[in-house]
Amino acid sequence: MANSSLNILIVGGGIAGCAAGISFSSAGHNVRIVEKQELWKFQSSGIFVYSNGLESLRDLGVLDEILIAGFTIPDGINSYFDHSGAEIVETKYPTADDGKIPAILGIKRAELHRVMANKLAAMGVEIILGTTVTSIQQSEHTASVTLTDGSCDSYDLVIGADGLRSEIRPMIGIDVKPKYTGFGIWRSVHERPETLVNKIMMMGPGKRFGIMPISDDRLYTFGTVAEPEGSFFPPETWAETMQSRFAEFSGPARQFLDALGPESEILYTAVEEVVLPLPWHRGRVVLIGDACHASTPFMGQGGAMAMQDAVVLALLLAGDLSVDAALQKFGELRLPVCQFVQNVSRAVGEAGAKESKSASSPDYSGLRDTAQTAVDDFYGTLRALNGTAP
Ligand SMILES: Cc1cc2nc3c(=O)[nH]c(=O)nc-3n(C[C@H](O)[C@H](O)[C@H](O)COP(=O)(O)OP(=O)(O)OC[C@H]3O[C@@H](n4cnc5c(N)ncnc54)[C@H](O)[C@@H]3O)c2cc1C
Repeated sequence: MANSSLNILIVGGGIAGCAAGISFSSAGHNVRIVEKQELWKFQSSGIFVYSNGLESLRDLGVLDEILIAGFTIPDGINSYFDHSGAEIVETKYPTADDGKIPAILGIKRAELHRVMANKLAAMGVEIILGTTVTSIQQSEHTASVTLTDGSCDSYDLVIGADGLRSEIRPMIGIDVKPKYTGFGIWRSVHERPETLVNKIMMMGPGKRFGIMPISDDRLYTFGTVAEPEGSFFPPETWAETMQSRFAEFSGPARQFLDALGPESEILYTAVEEVVLPLPWHRGRVVLIGDACHASTPFMGQGGAMAMQDAVVLALLLAGDLSVDAALQKFGELRLPVCQFVQNVSRAVGEAGAKESKSASSPDYSGLRDTAQTAVDDFYGTLRALNGTAP
C-alpha cells in the first residue's frame, strides 16, 4: 500500500464527511473531522437510499444498523398515480449483491447520521464540532490548515466535504457557485398508516408529489414545483403554502395535505446544483459530495454519490497510486457517474415542469410503457459507469 497512515482532515460532517471518516479510518489513516455546526442538526424529513447507496453503506460496515433504522420498501416497488389518485403503473427498482441488498430504503436523515456517527465514535475518529477552516497553505506534499479555534496543523490530505455552499471550494481557487434550478421542494413528515408501504409518486400538471415510508411509524411527503428564483416563504406560512401548491392532488396525497397545520414538520428548499469540471482537487485538497456535484433530487441519488465518493477515494489511496495520482484518478472515475446522475435528474425535473400547468388532466399513458425501462436503463448505466471503479 503506497499511502499508509496519512494524516487527513475532513471538513464537514454530513453524509460525505461521515462516510469519508469511516472509510479512511478503516483503511488505517489518522482522521480528524471538523464540522461547522455546534451541534449536529438535521433538516427534518427523510432520504431515499437506493441499492447502490446501500452497497456503499455495506462497504462502510453499517448496513445492518441502517436496515434496522430505516424502512425497506417491499420488492422495491414505486407506485405511480396521477394527481387525482388514478393508478398509472408500478415499477420495481433493482436490488444488489444477488438480492441481499434491498432496492430502496427510506430513512430519517437524523437516523442515517446517528448510525454513521456511532461508527465514527466506535472507531475513535476525532470530531471537532463548532469549528471550521480559516486558511489553507499548501506546500508540495502537505496542506497547513488553520482552524477557527486558532490551531494550525499539517495534513497529507484535506477533504472538502462541506456541501453545496462549500467554503473549501473558493479557498482552493475554484470559483463555481451553486446555481438555482428553478424548482422548489416541499417536504413534510407524518405518521405512517400501516398499509402504506410502497414508495408513491404522483404526477400532477407541472408538479410531482411523492410519499415515502422512512420508519415503522413515519413517512415523509415531498412535492416539487417550479418557483421563481429568490422565492421566500416565511416558515409560519409553510403549511398553508404547501397545501395551496398541491391543491389539485387527491388520492394518496390528500390525507397528508389535509393534515398540514402550524404544528407540522414542514420544510421548503430551493433546489440548487453544483456543476464542477475537473479537477476536483488542488494540490492536497480534494472536494467530495455536494461540494463538487450537488444534484437536483429527482433521482434521490445525491447521498449515494457522496458515500460512493468516500468509498472510492479510500480504495484508490489504498492502491499503488501516489496521493496526487489517486486524487486525479478519483475525479476521472467519479465525474462521469456524478454528472450522469445530475443530467438525468435535471432532465426528469425539467420534463415534469414542462407539462402544461393549465392542462387539468395531462396524459400519462406513455409512462406505462416507459417507466420500468427508464429505471432499468438508469441503473444499468450507473452499474456500467461504476464498473470502472477500483
Ligand atoms: C430536497 C432534497 C432532497 C434530497 N433527497 C435525497 C434522497 O432522497 N436521496 C439522496 O441520496 N440524496 C438526496 N438529496 C441529496 C443529499 O441530501 C445530498 O446530496 C447529501 O446530503 C450530500 O452530502 P454532503 O455531505 O456532501 O453535504 P451535506 O449533507 O450538505 O453536509 C455538509 C456538512 O458540512 C458542514 N459544513 C458546511 N460548511 C462547512 C464548513 N465551512 N466547515 C465545516 N463544516 C461545514 C455542514 O454543516 C454539513 O454538516 C436531496 C437533496 C435535497 C436538496
